[in-house]
Amino acid sequence: MDYPIVDGRVQTRALEYHITDHCNLRCDHCCSFSPILKKWLADPAAFREDLLAVRRVVRPSFLKIVGGEPLLHPQLEELLAIAHELQVGARIQLTTNGLLLRQLSSRSWDCIQMLSVSLYPEPSLPRDLIRHVAREAARRNVEVSWKMQDKFTCLDRSSLATPAEAASTFAGCWIRHRCNSIKDGRFYSCTRPQYIRKFAADPQRFASDGVPVLTADAARIRQHLTQSEPLHSCFLCNGGDAPLDTHRQLTPQAIGAKRNLLVTLTAP
Ligand code: SF4
Ligand code: SF4
Repeated sequence: MDYPIVDGRVQTRALEYHITDHCNLRCDHCCSFSPILKKWLADPAAFREDLLAVRRVVRPSFLKIVGGEPLLHPQLEELLAIAHELQVGARIQLTTNGLLLRQLSSRSWDCIQMLSVSLYPEPSLPRDLIRHVAREAARRNVEVSWKMQDKFTCLDRSSLATPAEAASTFAGCWIRHRCNSIKDGRFYSCTRPQYIRKFAADPQRFASDGVPVLTADAARIRQHLTQSEPLHSCFLCNGGDAPLDTHRQLTPQAIGAKRNLLVTLTAP
């Protein structure tokens, strides 16, 4: 994928900001590791700083506000207003499982241009909620994409990849071109490192999968996006072309087992 630099900014498809780690669901193979993570909420001041820093050097087509479940953030309206003010990309998309969409305030609706709603077999969204969202979106000219998610990509590995496997997975992974993210002053080509560092014994190793955005110029960001060397995170990941599995909610026992396995795999 080409990453042209225009007016000092790398042109990209999308940039994700994950404003919560936790979720009101616990899907197996959640790419954000939400079921195994503690409650965490983005601080509006840090959110503003990250967006100010990244917009100097990156111009995504759209900024995605994601989680966990972003509607669990009590300051969602303030965060969306900041994103709307700073105009990092041409448009703003809110990505949600939809269950709490009745709570989306009028001001929040006015800050977004796109809404992506994941539809799971279990729990399914009530029909009247779907009608409400479709009506509000149409009234406000917000583009909605309803995404049926009955299969999940099995990203998590059960054992560490060899260097050759990690290199091959990284080389073929489309996620790193579609899910760039920013968190705590670091720009990442995908979203996995910002989460793995939260449960890894040595978080710094996975933080180094990203680029400190405050001191980076556009050329450094493009170098990161086009590098051939796999990330540390790729040793734990099957990549975007991994096999699919039927969507299911994890039991508390399965969550515990998954957490233990991942912590073991990230041991130095
Ligand atoms: S709804 Fe999304 S964020 Fe929440 S557990 Fe499922 S996949 Fe993860
Ligand atoms: S960790 Fe590596 S293989 Fe996994 S999604 Fe990110 S870039 Fe792709």
